[in-house]
Amino acid sequence: MIDFELEPQILSRLQMYHAVSEHMMRPISRDCDEHEHTKPTQFYDSMWSASAAADIQVGNDKSKKADSPGAAPRRANLLSVLSTEELCWGDAGLYLSTPNSGLGGAAVMAAGTPEQKDRFLRRFKEGKPKWGAMAITEPSFGSDSSQVTTTATRDGDHWVINGTKIFCTAGEMAAEKSEGFVVVWATVDKSAGRPGIKPFVVEHNTPGMTVARVENKLGIRASDTAALIFDNCRIPLDALLGSAEVRKEGGFKDVMATFDATRPIVAAMAIGVGRAALDFVRDFLKEQNVPVRYGISPRRLTAVERDFMEMEVQLQAARLLTWRAAWMLDTGKRNSLEASMAKAKAGLAVTLITQKAVELLGPLGYSRKILVEKWMRDAKINDIFEGTQQINMIIVARRILNYSSKELN
Ligand SMILES: Cc1cc2nc3c(=O)[nH]c(=O)nc-3n(C[C@H](O)[C@H](O)[C@H](O)COP(=O)(O)OP(=O)(O)OC[C@H]3O[C@@H](n4cnc5c(N)ncnc54)[C@H](O)[C@@H]3O)c2cc1C
Repeated sequence: MIDFELEPQILSRLQMYHAVSEHMMRPISRDCDEHEHTKPTQFYDSMWSASAAADIQVGNDKSKKADSPGAAPRRANLLSVLSTEELCWGDAGLYLSTPNSGLGGAAVMAAGTPEQKDRFLRRFKEGKPKWGAMAITEPSFGSDSSQVTTTATRDGDHWVINGTKIFCTAGEMAAEKSEGFVVVWATVDKSAGRPGIKPFVVEHNTPGMTVARVENKLGIRASDTAALIFDNCRIPLDALLGSAEVRKEGGFKDVMATFDATRPIVAAMAIGVGRAALDFVRDFLKEQNVPVRYGISPRRLTAVERDFMEMEVQLQAARLLTWRAAWMLDTGKRNSLEASMAKAKAGLAVTLITQKAVELLGPLGYSRKILVEKWMRDAKINDIFEGTQQINMIIVARRILNYSSKELN
């Protein structure tokens, strides 16, 4: 049974995240946006110490298993989406740049063996700040991840990786500036198509892996987005996550399972940004003595009331879908459909909410005096990465209509 009643421990953790957002993120938000590529190292250090003290990876606590019969409900994924919302209410770019195992860690959790999970993720509880990243996208493709051209060729006790990856979130920090790692998707057998694609963990500063550039972006400018080159990059055989066997049935599905865990998190990012904008508008309307009247006939609502309520509805619908997708993961249910539904809905909702917020605030909304215009820029990425709006809609349609990816693309 779905149960979204939150335990007191979760609520107090969320209060802590809210305080982090309010007192550590918001004060540096504008500065980090204005000065893309300048690293807020003090913020990184504080977040790293805080996550170590709380014994969690902020926003990415996937260390717990799904429920066993009769056990108290586990909430690792629900806690992830709740904490992500709370932190992205503070600043989505800073959230993405927070040291943790990130998308790379999600890939290890989804595709790695128990031994690999322990080996690669344990370090994220120790020492200096570290980052994990995931590199799928290449210059020749984005949406269709079955088009991977980066190769992994076996040579004795090693895999040798060759190829170029672009738009890798936290790529610079993971590859070169910390003791982190990058999970790279590469094909071990091009002729096998999708089943030949496997995720590999490439450790920081491995010879042959270089950062070619970091992007200048519209939004989430506190987060680094890197292009990485792999030139005869040698890694040990056991850096391949899961099995090296090229299975015709289900091989690629296991790799794609990473998205079942990461899409609800991106949806939660969107919800956090949307909530920031909504909260700002609510306070603004209150200050201006503009009422929002609930419970009256829709015919009597003002245009502002209608817009505001629509923003609230969109946010709530996206949040409930996201919670459901996370709850399914926590209870060991396959959630590919629900994860894509949540991601598609939340990406659209945050775009709508932040644009409406700018509009309702008038010239103030468009000015850099306040953060609302920044949130509008930060919002759009949620409609692009971890599967664009259109791609997630196609996945939803496929799953509902029971079509294969060949039949509906
Ligand atoms: C800031 C940022 C961070 C990123 N971080 C990462 C990361 O950490 N790791 C990583 O691997 N990648 C990352 N990406 C890449 C991101 O996942 C891709 O940009 C995304 O998958 C879309 O790919 P594309 O840009 O090549 O667009 P394309 O695939 O070229 O698509 C262009 C447009 O066509 C639409 N489209 C494509 N195919 C179809 C179809 N079949 N039907 C209908 N419409 C379609 C798309 O929805 C989109 O609107 C990041 C991107 C950005 C901008």
